[in-house]
Amino acid sequence: MAQIIDGKALSAAVKEEVKAEVLQLEARFGRRPCLVVIIVGENPASQVYVRNKVKAAEFTGIESRQVELPASVSEEELLETIKGLNDDPSVDGILVQLPLPKHIDEEKVIDAIAREKDVDGFHPGNVAGLWIGKDCIVPCTPAGVMRMIDSTGYDLNGKSAVVVGRSNIVGKPVAKLLLDRNATVTIAHSRTRDLAAVTREADVLVAAVGRPQMITGNMVKPGALVIDVGINRTDEGKLVGDVDYDSVFEVAGWITPVPGGVGPMTIAMLMKNTIHCFLSRVE
Ligand code: NDP
Repeated sequence: MAQIIDGKALSAAVKEEVKAEVLQLEARFGRRPCLVVIIVGENPASQVYVRNKVKAAEFTGIESRQVELPASVSEEELLETIKGLNDDPSVDGILVQLPLPKHIDEEKVIDAIAREKDVDGFHPGNVAGLWIGKDCIVPCTPAGVMRMIDSTGYDLNGKSAVVVGRSNIVGKPVAKLLLDRNATVTIAHSRTRDLAAVTREADVLVAAVGRPQMITGNMVKPGALVIDVGINRTDEGKLVGDVDYDSVFEVAGWITPVPGGVGPMTIAMLMKNTIHCFLSRVE
């Protein structure tokens, strides 16, 4: 039976850490870090995510501002808004909640955020920094995954890690972070042949696919550390991960639940990233 890595408890600890850091920063620099979240349109899931981010900022003492733009906003207007925030010295972090309406080019928008204010770590400058091992802002979800692994005391050195999923925001950066810690990393994806044979080799298995409960117990090596990044809603409205929790729980050594796993960690790491951005600007 697996040990549960409790993302809720761990994220609460990270937020407490941030809260203490904010107090110190305010005493030293005379102001608190400031995060601006831009939301375009009324996507209900995005609204929940933004609300949770603002709530976490309030808890930690990070100043947060919300910019709400209608779904009809033009790409040009959005880029102008970002430019204004880039130039505003009181703003440390800028986050544009994705997805954006179809008429707006997400890549252009991400590129427009000043690299040093890119709290999501999606800007090409930060992506390049991650891959060549330079100072950079690490995307929140992958940073949260690493923090969860570290909370167990697990030594990644020389271990076999399999990441299922190769997106720019989760799969690829998680793989690079595992590589940095000397794991031997395999990235699996939709064209991988015999996925189960690949995942069964994993000492550490990270699922970031977006397919409900696709990783089942028979795909997991006994004792493996399993991180479930997936957030999927079933037809019955239940929130489930990419991992079939019940069957994997019986086989794995560690497992993260959904909800209450990687999700809350992502938000906690966003607060950490806001501090990182603040420090890179004041020091
Ligand atoms: P993407 O859709 O961008 O990427 C999914 C990846 O899974 C792709 O690389 C795809 O392969 C791969 N894939 C799809 N089907 C299969 C399959 N049958 N076998 C193996 N690989 C497959 O998703 P994201 O990376 O953005 O997100 C992944 C999941 O994580 C989603 O459920 C999302 O909601 C969740 N998520 C959770 C966050 C959190 O805070 N907890 C944050 C971000 C995401 P290919 O490249 O070949 O198409």
